[in-house]
Amino acid sequence: MGITVRNVSKRFGEFVALDEVSLEIPNGSLTALLGPSGSGKSTLLRVIAGLEEPDAGEVVISGEDKTRTPPQRRGVGFVFQHYAAFKHMTVWENVAFGLEIRKRPKEQIRKRVGELLELVQLAGFAHRYPAQLSGGQRQRMALARALAIEPEVLLLDEPFGALDATVRKELRSWLRRLHEEMPVTTVLVTHDQEEAMEVANEIVVMNHARVEQVGTPEEIYESPASEFVMSFVGPVT
Ligand code: ADP
Ligand code: MG
Repeated sequence: MGITVRNVSKRFGEFVALDEVSLEIPNGSLTALLGPSGSGKSTLLRVIAGLEEPDAGEVVISGEDKTRTPPQRRGVGFVFQHYAAFKHMTVWENVAFGLEIRKRPKEQIRKRVGELLELVQLAGFAHRYPAQLSGGQRQRMALARALAIEPEVLLLDEPFGALDATVRKELRSWLRRLHEEMPVTTVLVTHDQEEAMEVANEIVVMNHARVEQVGTPEEIYESPASEFVMSFVGPVT
């Protein structure tokens, strides 16, 4: 059932960050929110996560109106560019944290964390501390942590933005594979058209607080709906 955003508006003082945004994000899709800096991508993601309350409109997740639901009860996992890991906890403890506070049975936690560390290829790093990981490993840990609670929706805000180009490229293809293995509905915020084209199966192009176009990478590339989309995602000439 995915995510439905209906007529969502958000202002910060006089500034309109989201202007009646409506959107359908299909269940199990890997959708990129693509647009220039300041277009409202992070605000939209934060509204979906429940970290920001919209002035108007609704957010429906898996068929349930979650507009007034606090973030921890929305079934969402999120990862940001500058991920705040618990520095005094090992990789294992960081990934287990969300399950511990939900008082899941010990055996279930052990099994789930083990599987997730395998999935993000950090099984050999369970007892390290975040400071002993590379930037790419740390973001993979962040993803494992976000996935631990079995979220219905995974929200990623420029998760690879702080990493160097080579690592970023590796993580893109890795994210695609991860999504194929575990097809959780995922929304990836990025200002990088190449990243959106490479990773996503659906792209939402944003500009000035509005959605300009929604389509597959091919549709966006081959039939841009506006001059803005053409110049932002079109072929570099
Ligand atoms: P993007 O992620 O596309 O770069 P954002 O959603 O972060 O854009 O922000 C859009 C605009 O909204 C920003 O340029 C900023 O001016 C404004 N904005 C975002 N968050 C706040 C806030 N908490 N307070 C005031 N203004 C904000
Ligand atoms: Mg942003």
